[in-house]
Amino acid sequence: MNSEVVERFLKYVSIHTTSQEGIDKIPSTDRQFNLGKLLVDEIKSLGYSDVKLTEKGVVIATIPSNLPDEITQKIPIICFNSHIDTSPAAPGENVHPRIVKFTGEPIYLENNLELSINIEEIPDLSRFINSELIITDGTTLLGADDKAGIAEIMTALSFLSKNSEIKHGTIKIVFTPDEEVGKGADSISVSEIGAKYGYTIDGGRMGGIEIENFNAASGKIVVKGYNVHPGSAFGKMKNSMHLVPEILSLFPPDQAPETTKDYEPYYYPIHLQSSTDETKLMFILRNFDEQDLERQINHIKEGVRKIQSKHPDFPIEVKIKKSYRNMKVILDQYPEVVQIAKKAIQLADLEVIEEPIRGGTDGARFSFEGMPTPNIFTGGYNFHSKKEFIPIPAMEKAVQVILNIIKLFVEKYS
Ligand SMILES: [Zn+2]
Repeated sequence: MNSEVVERFLKYVSIHTTSQEGIDKIPSTDRQFNLGKLLVDEIKSLGYSDVKLTEKGVVIATIPSNLPDEITQKIPIICFNSHIDTSPAAPGENVHPRIVKFTGEPIYLENNLELSINIEEIPDLSRFINSELIITDGTTLLGADDKAGIAEIMTALSFLSKNSEIKHGTIKIVFTPDEEVGKGADSISVSEIGAKYGYTIDGGRMGGIEIENFNAASGKIVVKGYNVHPGSAFGKMKNSMHLVPEILSLFPPDQAPETTKDYEPYYYPIHLQSSTDETKLMFILRNFDEQDLERQINHIKEGVRKIQSKHPDFPIEVKIKKSYRNMKVILDQYPEVVQIAKKAIQLADLEVIEEPIRGGTDGARFSFEGMPTPNIFTGGYNFHSKKEFIPIPAMEKAVQVILNIIKLFVEKYS
């Protein structure tokens, strides 16, 4: 018999919610509504009627305080959020999760036997010897990012609904679409949420809290060529493909996602499309230091300028847009939000692991809009990959941490 958080998780990962890059509307894929609808029904069935699914696919719920008004007014309203979509970086349909006991030996994924989960790659697995892991069959991602977060929040809610002796203030729940395509926080505003603090449940390994994330920029470089019939091409055809090596040389392979770690910045050429007519390169830049991100942006722009002056026949355009920013500057102003989260992790008998997020988080946008929102572990590993997995004990601990945060706010303010 699985625990509730596992049951919920297995149900949520069976629903295909992959988001899609480059779509103008939110949600980018209608299928995300399917999980949204289910979650609204489930929250209602727990007895919380103030819940809706917005046009943009956001589930937003208010869990009313069960304390007297005069105390309720003193307790900051807190929000827990996670995201409905899964990353388009790996297939997310027909997920076949498997529960296996981890003995310390590598676990091979049954429908893709060259893939394995092993302790050499993930030394942290030493914490989970003899524990059960939820893994994939090797053909899809698992969806722990971020359906584990949803399952953990929902299980905490279910626990509150069944244990009315546990006192709590007003709690907001937000499940956003399109986080993986950078638009989660575009789907709802902080003023609509109406909470003082937020906690994103979308982090990695057990015990983790993240208060720093990358500053991010994304861009594209477009080179125009000119195509004519090759038979009469002499002196006329301009094949944009010939500029590909020079364009790619702007992205140092030793400063790439796969060659950097911790606080190191990177350049990532994501997608290249090239024909005689046109070459288009999509890329992202990431850096914990906002000023140093400017240096990276200038490196690309200056590089393109040089290539352009060498090849005046090929019009080249570069566009770079900044997106999310490192939320640390905001969280530092509200120490309470992080302190309570760390204490909640310790109360769950875990060591607090503070790590920078080498990515973004909805919480970063929320923080800059006025709702300071650190990111707390879900317990999962290898996000966006067919090797994604999550240890069951980590999910159970995450549920405890959520409940501890709720409890600590009541203790502090009542
Ligand atoms: Zn996520």
